[in-house]
Amino acid sequence: MKRGITLCSRCFFCGKTAETVNHLFIQCEVTGQLWNLFLRHKSISWSMLGRISEALFSWEEAGTQAKNRSNWRIVPATIWWTIWKERNLRVFENRESSMQQVKLNCISTLCFWCNQIYSNDTVSIIDVLDSL
Ligand SMILES: [Zn+2]
Repeated sequence: MKRGITLCSRCFFCGKTAETVNHLFIQCEVTGQLWNLFLRHKSISWSMLGRISEALFSWEEAGTQAKNRSNWRIVPATIWWTIWKERNLRVFENRESSMQQVKLNCISTLCFWCNQIYSNDTVSIIDVLDSL
């Protein structure tokens, strides 16, 4: 990269910069919309999250008032899984979902995983979002 050779692809979401782990999962303004789904009522915003390790630390801090800490802790993995699946759809199948659909995928994955944790109960999307 120092010699001006492009070693990685451009981000498949914003197309503005090289796709790195920190960009794709934390810093991208497009995938950042997923963080904002869950951070709207918290004291941090996705733009304050620099690197993955810092993001996880900030996430723990921001979730101290979450009604359900288990649900809160599963959100970063849900966001990253959703981004990774959509990224691979764009890279390998030359298809893309609208951001509205990506957000719905993220929320439904979160609900599905929360239901896996509480397998004796059926937790609705509203219950999950209300617990954060
Ligand atoms: Zn990007």
